[in-house]
Amino acid sequence: MTKSGSGANRPGMTAPAPKPWIDAIAPYVPGRATADGGRKAIKLSSNENPFGTGEAAKAAYAAEARSLDRYPDAGAAALREAIGAHYGIEAERVIHGTGSDEVLHLAAGAFAGVGDEIAYARYGFSVYDIAARRVGATPIVAPDKDYATDVDALLACVTERTRVVYVANPNNPTGTYTSRGEIARLHAGLPSDCLLVIDQAYTEYLDPEDDDGALELARTAPNVLVTRTFSKIFGLAAERIGWGYGPAPVIAAMHKIRAPFNVTTAGQHAAIAALRDAAFVERSRAHNATWRAWFSDQMDALPGLRVVPSKANFVLVLFEGRLRAEAAYKGLMDAGYIVRWLPGQGLPDALRITIGTEDEMRGVVDALTAMASAA
Ligand SMILES: *Cc1c(COP(=O)(O)O)cnc(C)c1O
Repeated sequence: MTKSGSGANRPGMTAPAPKPWIDAIAPYVPGRATADGGRKAIKLSSNENPFGTGEAAKAAYAAEARSLDRYPDAGAAALREAIGAHYGIEAERVIHGTGSDEVLHLAAGAFAGVGDEIAYARYGFSVYDIAARRVGATPIVAPDKDYATDVDALLACVTERTRVVYVANPNNPTGTYTSRGEIARLHAGLPSDCLLVIDQAYTEYLDPEDDDGALELARTAPNVLVTRTFSKIFGLAAERIGWGYGPAPVIAAMHKIRAPFNVTTAGQHAAIAALRDAAFVERSRAHNATWRAWFSDQMDALPGLRVVPSKANFVLVLFEGRLRAEAAYKGLMDAGYIVRWLPGQGLPDALRITIGTEDEMRGVVDALTAMASAA
């Protein structure tokens, strides 16, 4: 006979209780990969690269397929060196993450907790809310200005309890861009003990003349962290690789709570190759610029539809006429295109549509044109 522990005899058996701030999290909703009924469809819901992965990155990944038994380099030294050389920044101030999602979480984890506040703009990236609540901090949402980050509104939210401010630039899901001057003004208005996290997941899609100055700020200021990802233009979303760059003490604090072997060996090698494949990156950027402009014009020409001007690889389309966003979402699904409808992010009248191949964009325009004229 086994003796039951005293716990089993506790009156009124209870289940483990999540912390209240964990209970309060609305789970992250990923872009769907299959249509209703499990049908295969074209996925324009997660801002992935329509050209897939570059050949050099694929080859580097494949070369690691036979060595699966050893742990990866915990410090990702070769990857951080490659990033440092490519961007002209100090490798020892780069932290690698399981996607930049991990880096965003590490910033909250190292610098905020119960009783602290984390601020970001309305329609900011949905991970910011989760990153704040996960550590027990209170998310503070500043009003937007025409779907974009309003620096004055964000600064007005800052209190002595604010530990972290997140800004995505360009922002997801709106595609809006905050200029270099506005980023500098935001930074200048923040107390120096508040960490400004500038999330540049889409920075490679900017026109060559656009630079928000974030890397330069992170190089010189004591309280600026930049995050980047290999998931978007570099075409490595499946491998989960991102990085951050900031002041040495900020990076050191984040390393303490980073998972030790957080980026795979094949992923590290693939990322280095992707970084050096300038032709693939430029082809992806140029394609996106062309078709984003064309697609935006087409949407603006349809009755009741309007786009939020985008600098990213997706466009937020507002449905303000007879054709509603939900109906358009379902109609596109029936036509074989999965896009992102975002009622959970306060955008029930909008769809976020990733810029795909030429054929895909023409197909989406044809389907929406038919729906808009029938509505
Ligand atoms: C896609 C995205 C990320 C990063 O994703 P990872 O795959 O985790 O690197 C970060 N921020 C924004 C705004 C994004 O859209």
